[in-house]
Amino acid sequence: MSSAVKTSSVTQLMSSPHVARALRFFETNAGAITDEHIRICSIPATPFGERERAEYLSQKFCELGLTDVEIDDEGNCLGLIKGASSSPLLVVSAHLDTVFSKETNFTVTRRDNKLFAPGIADDGCGLAALIALAKVIKAEQLQIDGSILFVGTVGEEGEGNLRGVRYLFTKGRWTSRVDAFLSFDGPGLDRITNRALGSRRYRVELSGPGGHSWGDFGLPNPVHALGRAVSRLAAYPAPKEPRTTFNVGRIEGGTSINAIPAQAIMEVDLRSAAAGELQRLDAFFRRAMKDAVDEENAKKRAGDPLLKLKLDLMGERPTGETPSDSPLVELAIEATRLLGVEPRLDQSSTDSNLPISLGIPAITLGAGGSSGCSHSLDEWYSPRDREQGLKRGLLVILGIVGLIL
Ligand SMILES: [Zn+2]
Repeated sequence: MSSAVKTSSVTQLMSSPHVARALRFFETNAGAITDEHIRICSIPATPFGERERAEYLSQKFCELGLTDVEIDDEGNCLGLIKGASSSPLLVVSAHLDTVFSKETNFTVTRRDNKLFAPGIADDGCGLAALIALAKVIKAEQLQIDGSILFVGTVGEEGEGNLRGVRYLFTKGRWTSRVDAFLSFDGPGLDRITNRALGSRRYRVELSGPGGHSWGDFGLPNPVHALGRAVSRLAAYPAPKEPRTTFNVGRIEGGTSINAIPAQAIMEVDLRSAAAGELQRLDAFFRRAMKDAVDEENAKKRAGDPLLKLKLDLMGERPTGETPSDSPLVELAIEATRLLGVEPRLDQSSTDSNLPISLGIPAITLGAGGSSGCSHSLDEWYSPRDREQGLKRGLLVILGIVGLIL
């Protein structure tokens, strides 16, 4: 959002009878919002398998009277509420994907006022928020100044590597037209994620000739080299502040106890709260891999083939932050306090990472309610106090796009 964009204050918005009526909408329609939440979460959505859920959402956007409704080439579902002018353009999003595989049963069950289903909270409650927010603006005929692009994104979770939001901001037809980004991810009311936790994920593959453990002793051994590499990485002095972490999460290789392996593989996850630290860790890791292989190769007999190192970057999430004194964050703080809750600025890895890395103001908010057992088959969501999260969301949206009073 350019500095020329002026945000409306939340107290100013609250004085409008239109806004007051719109805020009551979430209470009077709580049952219908939960029914919709159940419907969208009953549709399977797996990594790279979000199509059916995207089609349902696009049908919903059409029913609500959004324009420019489409599923883009990456699979994101988009719909526009056009205000009096085309800017500021605010993206309001939630992610369509879950972490679960194709065999998962996505049936939603209800017990003790809780909803149970894989993905019911992450990010089912975000999707329910998206639909409820589009609906209230249309149903209450709120006259907005700027425009709102509602987006159900694909590929937010791990292996998706933010492919949906990446496409939206770097290749799609809305690229370079977006002024601010707001995503709803998971439940809660106090969290304002304005800092992006960056990560880099590698698959390391070492390969060599392989041979007999006795007869070919002296050949370079990929598992030995991997051991040297892990030992070097494990000695990295990761700072506590800014928090920086590394993990060798998977390792495999070899075929038999008495065979020199022809191949060894490991997967490594590097993270840091600060871009500079992530870069430093990344450079150390690459160097450690190269040195370990060189060391193993230096021991081989003359004429033996060399070990080969292959580093594949499997995933990359950029680091950065939307400053806490930026209008978008200030607006979210003000709206949270107005609902009687003390806001908590937070750092996490969400769809906001991408716009933040491009300098576009972006935050991720909880969509209200509470949840547990996230990313497990026992995941649950309680819609109690959901309306508070939706009220906060609406106030932030209207604060950005402005209301014609
Ligand atoms: Zn999520």
